[in-house]
Amino acid sequence: MPDSAKIKSVESIVVSLPCDMGGPPPSFAGKPWTHLEILLVKVTTEDGLVGWGEAFGHASIPATKAALDTIVGPLVIGRDAGDINALNRSILHSVHLLGRNGPFVFAYSGIEIALWDLLGKRCGKPLYQLLGGSKLTALDAYASLLSYGNVPELVARNTAAACESGYRYIKLHETTREAVLAAKQAARASNSRIMLDVNCAWSVPVARDMADALAGDDLMWLEEPVWPPEDCHGLAQVRERGIPISAGENVAGLFGFKSLIEAGAIDVAQPSVTKIGGIGEMLRVIDYCHAQGVEVAPHSPYFGPGFIATLHIAAALVERPLVEVLWLEMEGNPFGSWVTTTNGKVRVPQGPGLGCDPDPDLVARYEVSR
Ligand SMILES: [Mg+2]
Repeated sequence: MPDSAKIKSVESIVVSLPCDMGGPPPSFAGKPWTHLEILLVKVTTEDGLVGWGEAFGHASIPATKAALDTIVGPLVIGRDAGDINALNRSILHSVHLLGRNGPFVFAYSGIEIALWDLLGKRCGKPLYQLLGGSKLTALDAYASLLSYGNVPELVARNTAAACESGYRYIKLHETTREAVLAAKQAARASNSRIMLDVNCAWSVPVARDMADALAGDDLMWLEEPVWPPEDCHGLAQVRERGIPISAGENVAGLFGFKSLIEAGAIDVAQPSVTKIGGIGEMLRVIDYCHAQGVEVAPHSPYFGPGFIATLHIAAALVERPLVEVLWLEMEGNPFGSWVTTTNGKVRVPQGPGLGCDPDPDLVARYEVSR
């Protein structure tokens, strides 16, 4: 196989997977969550090799797919698929007037992940080995429960079920102390830790009060307590109340993290590989955070190549961060058991590149647009 080849085509495929998250479907950007949608990115080189990526999905899919199909995809056609660093600079510079965060960067993230898949396939090595990791077959995961509208019974029931299935770390998407206490009670028998993610629900004064109220509840971290997410100094004020603060899924690239860390805003950085520009930008963020003494826990509430890429990145790090896995049951998934947990652990694929291509029959069954 040649060392590299030019990019011949970029295709986007949306699959929609029926799912059950253990309660009434929450609303996300105005749409109820009854299906999990994944925006798959297929990059083919002129010698016929195929790499797979994933651009951030959920409610952003129509906008991100349009950005990918009409602007970002055409920009990479004819470029050398192995020239990843130069492509990152060139493509992100070409679209920077369209936003340093959002659909255009999400679209490029999907392509970039596919380029690393191609590189690993050419080298015959799994991605985590290309990134400097040694053989590792499994990683600890945490269960990321969706929102149950602060209903304590639903929070307790799903926390207990997640602990029962082997998770020892549970993240809630609720906004009340009652919900936290319900989860703590349900997790007590297994000694599991609780994290709370409020998705930027509070003003700074409310967040400070809530941090005071939650101070004795032994939260492992409080995630994105402040609106808007780029209010570094507001976050820093909440962090002064003593609970470890996590954030970063909604900031733009390395320099977004630089702003958070220079403001003293976070204890735990949460870069997201399908949003931030792909694997190369993740690696730059992780190196920077570690140099600043900040822990990294990747954001990965998705179930396609972006999730698999997150496994490889985590497997290559000495610190072995917990992997975020959304707590829901899918009817099926083209990536099968690679995106599910057993006893609170996820397996790391050992094949070249990402190590698992999607099952074409399942892609055909769940495809809703191409
Ligand atoms: Mg979050």
